[in-house]
Amino acid sequence: MPFFDPRPMHLPIKQAMAEAVQRVIDGGQYVRGSALERFEKSFATFCGATQGIGVGNGLDALHIALRSLGVGPGDEVIVPANTFVATALAVVHAGAVPHFVDVDATTANIDPDHFERAITSRTKAVIPVHLYGRPCDMGRIMSIAHAHDLHVVEDNAQAHGARWEGRRTGSFGQINATSFYPTKNLGALGDAGMLTTSSPALATTARALSNYGLIGSRLAPTPGFNSRLDELQAAILQVKLEHLERWNVERRRLAAIYEGQLERLPHIVVPMERRGEHGVYHLYVVRSPHRDALRVHLAQHGVATLVHYPVPLHLHAELAYLGGRPGDHPTAELLADTSLSLPLFPGMLEQQQARVVDAITSFRTVAGAV
Ligand SMILES: *Cc1c(COP(=O)(O)O)cnc(C)c1O
Repeated sequence: MPFFDPRPMHLPIKQAMAEAVQRVIDGGQYVRGSALERFEKSFATFCGATQGIGVGNGLDALHIALRSLGVGPGDEVIVPANTFVATALAVVHAGAVPHFVDVDATTANIDPDHFERAITSRTKAVIPVHLYGRPCDMGRIMSIAHAHDLHVVEDNAQAHGARWEGRRTGSFGQINATSFYPTKNLGALGDAGMLTTSSPALATTARALSNYGLIGSRLAPTPGFNSRLDELQAAILQVKLEHLERWNVERRRLAAIYEGQLERLPHIVVPMERRGEHGVYHLYVVRSPHRDALRVHLAQHGVATLVHYPVPLHLHAELAYLGGRPGDHPTAELLADTSLSLPLFPGMLEQQQARVVDAITSFRTVAGAV
């Protein structure tokens, strides 16, 4: 039982993907052409933003978003302690300082109260991460950010299509970043990323930064990069975007089955949606006080699992210079010790999911006392 398999998604649309690739080959334009232009418009519209700027990957998208907002040396950016390392690395690459805050125990997302308390005179921006496909409480985050005159950059890498109070993620912040890494809900056949914004001025800056900083033949004040979403990936993503909503519906259906089967187990805490939240289950993350033993047990039953994420950001040795210590962010630390991601992907078979459920259920028997 693999953790993730993209092939059931790709099999029924293989022909359409191949034809799209063929059109790019025949068209002769492989970078910054019409396939990218079309996909930028389509994905931005999907998110409820007016502009999309394709870039090479999600880390670059986050980095360029911060640079476009003028975030740099001397600035602090608030980042949840429980997220993928790229969220914090983007801040470091921009020359600013990540300021980690603890997360909410129920959602695993940034806790708005901790966010508000962490604001200092140097804080320039906040990066809410819609982790596991669960949207952050964007109502509260936007109003706190507004009251303190902070920029908001959503990290939408895991939440393509998620909604907070009916509105799609990737449309709340001034400029937002996403990744189309192959395992994401909308995944390329390689690396790709995008910024979404409804500010034409920010879009112009971000686009320039992704292309050496060139605006026409002039250079932007900040040195730019070469980070672009190529025509082949854009054409593939355009085909796949048509199926994203259907895949997200399927993810929610699989999640509901897990919930129904696992909720009653005493040693498992399953994710539950709150009011206002419409998630897209990029990952199905349960919690168990016996996480490591459960993981071994599942592996013995042929079920692959992963941990997102085993080390909270403030405890990474490479980020120790920021002064993080054990105990700083107790909820993030608890989640790192107890979270377990179960297999979930569109096209996952009923019997595959039953196998995961059976393996988890039998753990209770084996563990006896738990
Ligand atoms: C995948 C991911 C990224 C980075 O995206 P890449 O395309 O791999 O650079 C950033 N943030 C989060 C939350 C992610 O899941």
